[in-house]
Amino acid sequence: MLAENIFLKIINRQLPAKIIYEDDLCLAFHDINPQAPVHVLIIPRKEIRTHSDITEEDKLLLGHLHLVAAKLARQLGIDNGYRIIINCKEGAGQTVPHLHFHLLGGRIMGWPPG
Ligand code: 5GP
Repeated sequence: MLAENIFLKIINRQLPAKIIYEDDLCLAFHDINPQAPVHVLIIPRKEIRTHSDITEEDKLLLGHLHLVAAKLARQLGIDNGYRIIINCKEGAGQTVPHLHFHLLGGRIMGWPPG
């Protein structure tokens, strides 16, 4: 079972977060347990539980999240090499049941990922 959707509480300002970007569709904030010098989470305001739950109606939203990720990577100085990760469901390590992009950079990334 995935845990409670704490990201909704960040969206609703019931839980503090270091928010670095927001607009009418999404928010970006620093991960509380960073796995790289830069580790930002980009989340849609819309409640989408997992990547597997996206639908045709989310096409523009998903493109928007990617554009925000690329813009933030430039702003954060990691556009010489960064990684975007979406963990989908428990088997891939998803712990928060709200779609999110991990934007990681600032160090050399290994491959294959764990
Ligand atoms: P997942 O494991 O679902 O792919 O990623 C969830 C991410 O959310 C983890 O990297 C975790 O460190 C981060 N996280 C969990 N709780 C909080 C919180 O309360 N605030 C912030 N900023 N990040 C959190």
